[in-house]
Amino acid sequence: MTFIQRVIARLPQSWYEAIRAESEEWVFTCPACGLARSVWEIGGVRYKAVSVGKRSLVWCSQCKQMRMMPLQRQPGD
Ligand SMILES: [Zn+2]
Repeated sequence: MTFIQRVIARLPQSWYEAIRAESEEWVFTCPACGLARSVWEIGGVRYKAVSVGKRSLVWCSQCKQMRMMPLQRQPGD
């Protein structure tokens, strides 16, 4: 867990679950290899945010390099 995730883990359980669930719905997809990982998986947190189509520089473990990846919401199953 990253620092921010440890901080959130100290919140009341229902808040923690809600924030984690939303963070797992936001997914970065590598434009080169197609590898998709959630914000939570890469150690981040996203909650009650509305921006769509934002791009961020994210490390791709498959390409072994930093990539500009679009962030998209993919509601969980
Ligand atoms: Zn990649």
